[in-house]
Amino acid sequence: MKKPCTVAAVLGLALAAAFGGAAFTAPATLVLFGGTVVPMTDVGITYEAIAVAGDRILALGTEKEMLALAGPETEMINLEGRTALPGFIDPHAHLLADAPKEGLSIAAAQGQALACGITSAAEMLVRPGELPSFVAAAERGEIRLRTSLYLAYNDLCGNVLGPWYRDYAPFAEIAPLLRIGGVKVFAERSSCGDERAAISFSDALRPLLSPAGAFWYGEDRPLFAASELAAVVRDAAELGFRVAIHAIGDAAVETALAALDFAGGKAQALRPMVLHNLFLRDELLPEFARLGVVAAVESTNACFVDVYDDLLPTLRATLVRRWGDLAATGAHVAADSDWPWCDPGFLSPLLRLANLVSPINASPAYASWEPCKPLPSAQLVSVWQGLRMMTTEAAYALHQEVELGTLEPGKLADLVVLSANPLLASIEELPGIRVWLTILGGKAEWRSETASSRPTP
Ligand SMILES: [Zn+2]
Repeated sequence: MKKPCTVAAVLGLALAAAFGGAAFTAPATLVLFGGTVVPMTDVGITYEAIAVAGDRILALGTEKEMLALAGPETEMINLEGRTALPGFIDPHAHLLADAPKEGLSIAAAQGQALACGITSAAEMLVRPGELPSFVAAAERGEIRLRTSLYLAYNDLCGNVLGPWYRDYAPFAEIAPLLRIGGVKVFAERSSCGDERAAISFSDALRPLLSPAGAFWYGEDRPLFAASELAAVVRDAAELGFRVAIHAIGDAAVETALAALDFAGGKAQALRPMVLHNLFLRDELLPEFARLGVVAAVESTNACFVDVYDDLLPTLRATLVRRWGDLAATGAHVAADSDWPWCDPGFLSPLLRLANLVSPINASPAYASWEPCKPLPSAQLVSVWQGLRMMTTEAAYALHQEVELGTLEPGKLADLVVLSANPLLASIEELPGIRVWLTILGGKAEWRSETASSRPTP
């Protein structure tokens, strides 16, 4: 425990004015105590307790100080040694449109995400006809996570849908918990009908593909020249929209980065995202930080990377899944699920965390693929970095870092309570950590069977 709490409490009250909330004062509406609170602000900072007023964080501090902020109506939750963290943020998911693929209703998919401790997500591909149905679902209260919609410029097959997004205002709240996030552009064809997603390799890498690699991917090319993609990005930026560009192969990533360079300062100031980034040549790495591009990456595990041994035999260790190298450039790197992806466990932030930090496969879905070669240690990140990629960096990726991503007085009270502190767990223990409670906007939105609350004694 570090950090004086009276200061935190005073800071909370001081920030109340900045956020203009009359409800943002003591007494607290909710106090979590009896455990560890990890605010994800700086390494090593923890608190004993946290107080919430309405939908915002009032203060963090010692148990004694937080209990002093409670009144007769305050809900008190004893963590009994568990750990509270900022709610997980998934900056690239498909919880609304792809729920049926998993045999789920929108409401059930939202429940599943909340049970995983996820409190915010980007819906990373919204077609024109889908948007009204999502608004209707939100009006019915079925959308329970803070959801940012990414409106499709083109579709998975590369068909251009055009700038229909013009009918909406960037970053506008359009229904409860539903906002416009930006514009999604495919720089490469994705899973079009029954076809596999394209992986476009550059002229430098194509000759290195194995016969099987050349058979599967040798003909794949980006959908745009960089100048064409730059025009799409610039048009969106003129209207205030940031873009999120799908790019798996190094040629598509190169096209995306070159387009964002050509598109200029206005587009770059909107913090564009490039999604997937699975194959990165050395010269592409520094471009993310230079251009202010956020990299959104999946927690691809060792067994999945092993597949590329057969396709790009000489380069697997130096080219695939370079999350450690990318983070080392100082670029913003956020970790996402791309749910529903091939691995059913991919939605779970704790399983994804295990895959980000572990050289070996942590996903039960890949158990039958083992033994798999371990991931290079340079491409692993620490548990702290991995958690940041799913909280603070993910909030930054979605332009929500002022309100979300850390636990600080004045921010929205979105929290997850875990059975153990991931920062103190061994790598082997991470996948076994369970979500106990998920709080969104100061209200418990999901409770495990053992989570209980009791009124102030
Ligand atoms: Zn996706």
